Amino acid sequence: MSPIVEKRILLSAELPDRAALEILLRGDRWLPLFFRSATELEGMLSVAPATAVVVLAAGREAAAEAMASARRLCPDAFTAAVGSAEGADLSIREAATAHEILTAVQTGAQLRDARAAARVLRQQFHAIEQETLAQAARIRDLESACSTLQKWARSAQEVSVRDELTGLFNRRHFLQTAEGEVERARREGARFALAMVDIDHFKRFNDTYGHVAGDDMLRQFARALLTNLRRMDTVARYGGEEFIMLMPETRESDGSVFEPERWMDRLRQAIEREPSLRGSRSGRPMTVSAGIVQYPADGKSVTDLILEADARLFRAKESGRNRVVAARAG
Ligand code: GH3
Ligand code: MG
Ligand code: MG
Repeated sequence: MSPIVEKRILLSAELPDRAALEILLRGDRWLPLFFRSATELEGMLSVAPATAVVVLAAGREAAAEAMASARRLCPDAFTAAVGSAEGADLSIREAATAHEILTAVQTGAQLRDARAAARVLRQQFHAIEQETLAQAARIRDLESACSTLQKWARSAQEVSVRDELTGLFNRRHFLQTAEGEVERARREGARFALAMVDIDHFKRFNDTYGHVAGDDMLRQFARALLTNLRRMDTVARYGGEEFIMLMPETRESDGSVFEPERWMDRLRQAIEREPSLRGSRSGRPMTVSAGIVQYPADGKSVTDLILEADARLFRAKESGRNRVVAARAG
């Protein structure tokens, strides 16, 4: 059985030791085909491409012509010249034996394969490079989308704790804060005050000046509360024209203990005096009623404290409004 032929090699018919070379080439799975002129070589290359072309260069002008034909018709072919020839990929010593020629051809073929592999690798590298650049661009896009989302999340978080109309904290956030404060006070044996504040006769204000002016007044009122509160106090809009406050007990700068009831009454008076909170036509001052409780004396849970503060607020209303009630009924 003849060996499997994989590679076409076209050789000058005038090469020395041709019969031995043919046997060696076939043994190495080459299909050797011999040409006698450049024209004949061209004919063979036009039928099928070759892996290698070997010309006899020594003293022959036809060699350059054959080399040029090979280059033109089959640029991928590896070219070797026995004797020196311009443009050949490889020069083989003139007196080379058939065995040496085979070795040179094998080396040349490997070189050719290596070059082809390098070309493929370059293409792959280029493709990977492009893909990497595209990935980097995608990552940049994702990063910017991510930071936009973070900004949204932050503003959503901010919106979720605020009352839309006044910008004060909302009831839900207040209740969370108050639960935390109860925990802290329980751990540390601390005290705090909680107050419910309700604007007096606000319905009347709305009826006189309209709902839009009423809204505006609620905003002004919120501002007045914030101006009068201490930094550590928390105030929220509990609903409608009702507000809720949490005031941790602290020592005043002169060493005296914070007195929530007196403090609350000063706030009540400040609101009554506040020019921006007066009816524009009537000049009637805004007044508030409040119920105030203390942890732990008046209740040990947020719910109990709020219920009692609400009951005291009710009594403040009942007993004439514009006042603070800080004591339990009866
Ligand atoms: P009282 O002294 O007993 O608290 O009298 P009041 O009129 O303040 O209380 P009432 O509960 O009878 O009415 C509360 C009013 O507050 C009625 C309602 O229109 C008004 N109000 C509640 N929320 C808003 C708001 O968001 N905007 C405006 N403009 N008014 C509001
Ligand atoms: Mg009211
Ligand atoms: Mg009310």
